[in-house]
Amino acid sequence: MLDLLIKNGRVCSAKSTRKMDIGVRAGKIVVLAERLEQDASEIVDAEGCYVLPGIIDVHTHIDHWGGTANTEDTFFTGSRAAAFGGTTTFIDFAVQRPEENVRTAVTRRIRQIENESCIDYGVHAHVTDSSKTTIELIPELIADGFTSFKMFTTYKSAGFKIEDPDMLTLMNVITEHGGFSMVHAENDSFCEELTGRLLAKDQADVVHYAQSRPPMAEIECISRLLLFAKVTGAKLYIVHVTTAESVELIRQAKREGVDVTAETCTHYLILDDCCYQRNDGYKYVMAPPLRKEKDIEALWAGLLDGTLSIVSSDHCDYSTDKKIAAKTNFTKISPGLHGIEWLWPLMYEHAVARRDIPIEKVVGWLSENPAKVFGIADRKGKIDIGMDADLFLFDPKPTKVLDDRNHHMSSDFCPYKSEQVTGSPVKVYTNGKLIVDGDIFLGEKGEGRLLLSK
Ligand SMILES: [Zn+2]
Repeated sequence: MLDLLIKNGRVCSAKSTRKMDIGVRAGKIVVLAERLEQDASEIVDAEGCYVLPGIIDVHTHIDHWGGTANTEDTFFTGSRAAAFGGTTTFIDFAVQRPEENVRTAVTRRIRQIENESCIDYGVHAHVTDSSKTTIELIPELIADGFTSFKMFTTYKSAGFKIEDPDMLTLMNVITEHGGFSMVHAENDSFCEELTGRLLAKDQADVVHYAQSRPPMAEIECISRLLLFAKVTGAKLYIVHVTTAESVELIRQAKREGVDVTAETCTHYLILDDCCYQRNDGYKYVMAPPLRKEKDIEALWAGLLDGTLSIVSSDHCDYSTDKKIAAKTNFTKISPGLHGIEWLWPLMYEHAVARRDIPIEKVVGWLSENPAKVFGIADRKGKIDIGMDADLFLFDPKPTKVLDDRNHHMSSDFCPYKSEQVTGSPVKVYTNGKLIVDGDIFLGEKGEGRLLLSK
């Protein structure tokens, strides 16, 4: 007997959508056919709904210290909000502090998540030095299933910046042992110099923020990293690509055989730098900053031709008070924007409903590609026999106007306020268990499991 039988849904993968029935037992998908008549403890009629593989958000900063303040959420509230949006897996960052090594950072972060998260999760190791210890620990971590290593080319003052020779060393070691480097690409000297000039001219107000981290800072840095990857053969993952020129550089590098994967985020596909001219422009301070309309179009084109293959939320959950505290000095505002709950809803609205992009493409960017890149495709990212029963029923008919309060994240504002989104995740399952039923949360704190890459 099955534990769960989902009937009559339109089941999506990154390639096709077919009307199928899905049988689940012991948390796994065990049978899939056009028509199933087996007995089941629970039978759900998904008529009129899409049945989608759970969304995998590979770039989140839950319960995160952002330099001036901690985010509002915990791994319980953050993962619960994720579930309401159809996200059943997130991958967050273990930031190596000055007093610890990268292994202890990963262990500490897992301790912080494991009794809190209600959905499955992974951890990227955020490396902040290239010491002998780090070099020795990288192969061990990769062997243990931690294959993604985050590095920054900026934020020198926070102790995050990895200098070029160290970057080359780390990229080589990581690739040699089967891992890959995830890099935040902005030229630090450029950003520091331009920020200094603005401050000297008394132009620290948020209206000037985008000028402090201009497209050129990202373009130069991505160009350099692609060259590093080309020369060394290293495997490179570029987080949050934002400019048209960056997309073109990556497109060209891929043609030349560089092993690069690139990601962008929901807000860079939807919002532009006009936000900084608004009265509440301080809410939109993030790095890199929002760009121009032409960049937005180039990002969509990059996704459509496969230059970019993943969309994440870069979720960073600050409330108005944390953002507004430094309204007149953008260097003091905690950067980041929340959005873990809106990843699927906003992408469905902007890609499928508004741009007529096939839903299968979005499933690729949000579920199947993340699973493949992060080494969990044997369990996640697809509705198929043998896979974890992480899936959700999405009713494409209802509409909802986003507001400051009608979400489950901890922040008290909505950067997409007054936007109408089409459709609603109505039932969300993780490992075969119903954790969201309409407006009701049925999941449990600490129920999520750590995912290791294979
Ligand atoms: Zn981030």
